[in-house]
Amino acid sequence: MEENRGIWVFIEVTDGKVEGVSLELLGAGRKLADKLEVPLAGVLLGHDVRKISAKVIEYGADIVYMADHAVLELYRTEAFMKAVVAMAEKYKPEIFLYGATPNGKDLASAVATDLSTGLTADTTMLDVDPEKRLLEASRPAFGGNIMATILCKKHRPQMATVRPKVMKALEPDASRKGEVIEEEIHLEESEMRTKVLQIVKETTKTANLAEAHVIVAGGKGMGDKNGFMLIHELAKTIGATVGGTRDVVEAGWLPHDQQIGQTGETVTPKIYFAIGISGAIQHVVGMKNSELIIAINKDPDAPIFDVATYGLVGDAFEIVPQLIEKFKEL
Ligand code: FAD
Repeated sequence: MEENRGIWVFIEVTDGKVEGVSLELLGAGRKLADKLEVPLAGVLLGHDVRKISAKVIEYGADIVYMADHAVLELYRTEAFMKAVVAMAEKYKPEIFLYGATPNGKDLASAVATDLSTGLTADTTMLDVDPEKRLLEASRPAFGGNIMATILCKKHRPQMATVRPKVMKALEPDASRKGEVIEEEIHLEESEMRTKVLQIVKETTKTANLAEAHVIVAGGKGMGDKNGFMLIHELAKTIGATVGGTRDVVEAGWLPHDQQIGQTGETVTPKIYFAIGISGAIQHVVGMKNSELIIAINKDPDAPIFDVATYGLVGDAFEIVPQLIEKFKEL
């Protein structure tokens, strides 16, 4: 077999559903695979996951390497790492991508250690140099002030975790053809050092920003927690999800799961209201791919206007109540 072939994407499955980031990575991986003229493969692990392989092909994969085993029913570092490492040693992928989710990050770092290769974490841009066959994985560095492109010159596979919502999934195509290769994985429950006893879902999560179509985000310009209630009121009026900047979260006006930006969520809603937000780079990296951005800020030079589709220069405490009244009339 030719050494170091193909681009692999780890297909993360939660409650029988493929995570959105895995589909996005199939879209990104397809472009890289076409540029390198190599196959794109999805690596699908779990129990009773056979039916999912068709979806992986519909979203761009040429091959699905599948391991269907009771030990792989729920994510565990040890079991998944052993299965993935066995596959990677057998087929020798050139590039291997994972979603930068809690499980994706955990698995990627364990696999990188076991395969003695490098890993670029939390990337937001991917490209490939076809001549040198090098993955160019870029990520914000130095507090988001620069984009660093990281190369893994010596070791293979070249691995990266990629943030959810920054790559685009392809439109699914049911007519796409692909091959499903079922791998025999030798895992014994008795050999596993960890057991999942129970999964306790977080109940305090108030927002699902990553899935929201409309987001009303507020910044320190809202003055205090009381002033920030105007953000909640506008969001409630139009059925939007509330988000905010890190400064707002640090001030205790919002919980951390509602923070947008480099150290918070990356969002791509259809409409993003940025109210009393200056537009620091660390915030902008998390929302700049929104389809339509409406910024309200009293400073006409605020950097948020550089990424806004529509900008309203003025006091949020005058503009937002008027917006709420108008929306209520609709
Ligand atoms: P400010 O920068 O203080 O801006 C307030 C804005 O409100 C100003 O533009 C002002 O003109 C406007 N304003 C004031 N009063 C009114 C009014 N009455 N009406 C209208 N406008 C008004 N930030 C994030 O958001 N997310 C992150 O994930 C993140 N990660 C970071 C990671 C690192 C390593 C670092 C160093 C920083 C990070 N930050 C992050 C912080 C970031 O640099 C900014 O400090 C932060 O985004 C600013 O928040 P803000 O816009 O709410 O506040």
